[in-house]
Amino acid sequence: MVGIGPILEANALIWHKVLQPKHRFILWLAAQRRLLTRRGLISMGLDCDSDECVLCDMQHPEDSKHLFLDCPWAVEVWNAVSDWTRIQLPHLDIHEALHMIKHKNWTSFKKEIATAVIEALVYNIWTTRNWKFFRGQTVNINFVVQQMKIIIRERL
Ligand SMILES: [Zn+2]
Repeated sequence: MVGIGPILEANALIWHKVLQPKHRFILWLAAQRRLLTRRGLISMGLDCDSDECVLCDMQHPEDSKHLFLDCPWAVEVWNAVSDWTRIQLPHLDIHEALHMIKHKNWTSFKKEIATAVIEALVYNIWTTRNWKFFRGQTVNINFVVQQMKIIIRERL
């Protein structure tokens, strides 16, 4: 875990903008690695029939790092959105990515876009994961990318 200082700094970036409350809350949880992934549930002593990621067929344990960064499904979404925004997003743990954006030598507008993109990524990956996890429904990547474009446009 990282120290309290950097977490507070990244939080300032999250809270600074007028985000939709549900997006903001999920981003805040993700930045602190507190979203209840399967690994998270197991580490709390809760019984899960499996710890595998539901978004890919890699049989990889579902933790924050896999879900938002390493999962091939998530990587495809990241790449599609990076191509669209033409911003080279730091492909890092959510908290580290926010921290890096904050300290980049970018205009505040570019920082705003990059933060909106990270927020949309986290929200959409988590929502898609929940659709699959709770309802057994697979969401098409193109649909997710379209949803993200709408969220990012609305935000800016
Ligand atoms: Zn996966």
